[in-house]
Amino acid sequence: MREHDVIIVGGGLAGSSAALEIKRRNPNLDVAVVAKTHPIRSHSVAAQGGIAASLKNVDPEDSWEAHAFDTVKGSDYLADQDAVEILTKEAPGVIIDLEHLGVLFSRLENGRIAQRAFGGHSHKRTCYAADKTGHAMLHELVNNLRRYGVKIYQEWYVMQLILEEGEAKGIVMYQIIDRKIEIIRSKAVMFATGGYGRVFNTTSNDFASTGDGLGMCAVAGIPLEDMEFVQFHPTGLYPVGVLISEAVRGEGAHLRNSEGERFMERYAPNQMELAPRDITSRAITLEIRAGRGIHQDGSAGGPFVYLDLRHMGKEMIMSRVPFCWEEAHRLVGVDAVYEPMPVRPTAHYSMGGIPVNTDGRVRLSGDNLVEGFFAAGESACVSVHGANRLGSNSLLECVVYGKLTGKSIASYVEGRKFPEFDENNYLINAKNRLKGLLEQKGAIRINELREKFQNCMTEHCGVFRVEETMKRGLERLQELKQEYLQVYLDDKDSCWNTELIEALELGNLMIVGEMILTSALNRKESRGAHSREDFPARDDANYLSHTLAYYSPAGIDIHYMPVVVNRFKPKERKY
Ligand SMILES: Cc1cc2nc3c(=O)[nH]c(=O)nc-3n(C[C@H](O)[C@H](O)[C@H](O)COP(=O)(O)OP(=O)(O)OC[C@H]3O[C@@H](n4cnc5c(N)ncnc54)[C@H](O)[C@@H]3O)c2cc1C
Repeated sequence: MREHDVIIVGGGLAGSSAALEIKRRNPNLDVAVVAKTHPIRSHSVAAQGGIAASLKNVDPEDSWEAHAFDTVKGSDYLADQDAVEILTKEAPGVIIDLEHLGVLFSRLENGRIAQRAFGGHSHKRTCYAADKTGHAMLHELVNNLRRYGVKIYQEWYVMQLILEEGEAKGIVMYQIIDRKIEIIRSKAVMFATGGYGRVFNTTSNDFASTGDGLGMCAVAGIPLEDMEFVQFHPTGLYPVGVLISEAVRGEGAHLRNSEGERFMERYAPNQMELAPRDITSRAITLEIRAGRGIHQDGSAGGPFVYLDLRHMGKEMIMSRVPFCWEEAHRLVGVDAVYEPMPVRPTAHYSMGGIPVNTDGRVRLSGDNLVEGFFAAGESACVSVHGANRLGSNSLLECVVYGKLTGKSIASYVEGRKFPEFDENNYLINAKNRLKGLLEQKGAIRINELREKFQNCMTEHCGVFRVEETMKRGLERLQELKQEYLQVYLDDKDSCWNTELIEALELGNLMIVGEMILTSALNRKESRGAHSREDFPARDDANYLSHTLAYYSPAGIDIHYMPVVVNRFKPKERKY
């Protein structure tokens, strides 16, 4: 059995920020990061638009309080306000720290870090590196992991969290190149496994965003928080779903329907295209439903609307959002300098996740914490985004809470012994599980089943939701779970067997999907990204609380936990 003082699953911004902080605080600690991708291929690298902080470089009126208010209002009052306060107060400091680590942010004429407008933010506070912000940040962080001597297991797949008697003791993983299984024990385990966009058939997320960390936690008996809140980004490029960053609207692009109308006038007359994502995605979906979407040939009644950049001019497009121009050009042959881009909502971000407190410690219930277990980033829910995340707050969360979790792990492991457990059991189980999948007799192919599952989720639990449809979705999911037991893998090889990984990932996606559907069915109100046609109003009397969903193969148990409201009283949300 291998051992490391700390094992972090995930090499994206959250995992890397935590690993770096632990090493900065105590260089003697043995810290390892495991990732199923190469760390710089984590989805963080694809982040485009930027990271929010009230640096006041462009807008001297800005403050952390204004940032906190925008975040809480954006969250439809479901965010925990103590966590938001930490996020927004720490923000300017982490930007300066990133800059000192070597991150190349875009600049103003006077040499200061540039800041742009973003949806739901009342001031220009989003720092950026053109439209490749995640790339700039992750490359520097991963460089620094090497500099500080963090051990990196790249292209290892983690398949189980070892959790015994309320204590996380280690992980089970295998090396993708040769299927060698290893058990690691550690004094602290941290999950930073990212999002689950692949639950849906159209997503901006990479192929690796399959909610593995959430699946592993659910199976181990750890609840998942607020899973009904899925962010659909308004501007996924049609038909592929890849993201056209909100930065494009931040820089002035317009949304238009088949009649050429800037329809946001009717949905958010003040903020227009820069309304928060839940509102803008619903507006686009309603326009398409009303027959004002557009077809490929430009006629009305089609499946997308236009994102129009033409009035911005070539120079601005090419200097501020060159990557978005390139995406549209390369993927759908649209030259945005001369033509509008076809867009529609795409599954983008998970507001919910593994419940943690502001030290990054995982909760088993309200105040009951799991020993030795931490989480941060998109896989976690410290609840700074509540029911709807504002753009450019996620990179911020990864860095702020990654760092704080690193700090708390560094002190947690001090004087702590390595846990004891029977390694053999875990080894045998892991071997049998992989062998079982490889030898399973059946006729169903992974990609076929995954597509059915993704269509089921998109159809039954998308931008708008209703009880009957969700119930049908859950029934359909039960059938698909049975089909999973009849999956047949063509590839039996032990070298780089991606089909085997996809089978394990699909298992996790299905658990996550069931948690989303069940949590959504139980929340009989509309709040942020969770929009019920049968319960269109927000209901603070009954639902100003976080969902905690506990998984078991027999069914899912739903509990609720209070929201921390200590600064901003819930009000009606208007833009
Ligand atoms: C296209 C796109 C653009 C975005 N733009 C912005 C933006 O401009 N601003 C903003 O604030 N947010 C943005 N976001 C959101 C933000 O990028 C993410 O929420 C954030 O980067 C997530 O970081 P993370 O560290 O939590 O996870 P990730 O970066 O997703 O990393 C997850 C890590 O976990 C590893 N992993 C997962 N499962 C396993 C397993 N079973 N075994 C081993 N390793 C595993 C992966 O290999 C990876 O290293 C964007 C998201 C997308 C998809």
